[in-house]
Amino acid sequence: MRGAVGKGGLRLIATVPLEEYVAGTVQAEAGKGHTLEYYKLQAVSCRTYALANKRRHAAEGFEVCDGTHCQVFQGRNLQDTIRLATTLTRDLVVVDPDIQLIHSTFHSNCGGETMNADELWSGSETYLVSTMDTFCLNAPHATWTRSIPRSKWLAYMRNKGVDTDDSTAVATLTDHVPVCREIYLANCGDRVPLDRLRKDFDLRSTFFSMHPVGDQVVLEGRGFGHGVGLCQEGAMEMAKDGYSYYDILHHYFAEVHIVDLKSLDFFRDEDVNGQLLPHP
Ligand SMILES: [Zn+2]
Ligand SMILES: [Zn+2]
Repeated sequence: MRGAVGKGGLRLIATVPLEEYVAGTVQAEAGKGHTLEYYKLQAVSCRTYALANKRRHAAEGFEVCDGTHCQVFQGRNLQDTIRLATTLTRDLVVVDPDIQLIHSTFHSNCGGETMNADELWSGSETYLVSTMDTFCLNAPHATWTRSIPRSKWLAYMRNKGVDTDDSTAVATLTDHVPVCREIYLANCGDRVPLDRLRKDFDLRSTFFSMHPVGDQVVLEGRGFGHGVGLCQEGAMEMAKDGYSYYDILHHYFAEVHIVDLKSLDFFRDEDVNGQLLPHP
């Protein structure tokens, strides 16, 4: 532990061995009561994240912070299962086909279908592509319902330049069932991006149907979170069903490899042409 003078006063900087840091972040991020396999998945993800982001605070003189900006770390892990999961996956990280550490993004529940990253964010990665997911459909955050006053809903649409005078147009703004994930609110062209709408109305997800009920518009939604990458509740269910952390990572991230850190330079130097072998 050392001190450094930051903007608001003294900042404490701790030097923690990687594997101890991984176990600590798994404890803080995943919490108690999960299967060994789920903790293994979390350990590989936390390790990958830490190494992929270790330049994030370089200008401030350290590698990662201990808050949600990076990964929550509240000190040493004290749980045996997490320690075992960390040891059993020691040095393993997830890389893309170019042998770059992946950005292992996750969300609580995808509602049955994850999203393509490029439909939500400006950048895209080959491994952050939409996949169907039945594992999370009965999980705690699989569905949600919200009633919004029709007047408030239509005023918002009007503000976005959508025609709300015509009764046919209004009907389509309050009654719609998506067959799959959509990027814009139905029938509004690109005027109402669902991600913006989600933030403005504080919705759990962008994946919902809508029906008029009296003077309300009732949204019946699926999932919780942005929907890109790993669906945590689906992953927990897969782990309970006996899938390995390998299977789970491959289910949510397309064309990735799980490799030993020590072999990264070797693979980068060699033209492996997709011949990476999984670590036993
Ligand atoms: Zn940070
Ligand atoms: Zn899911």
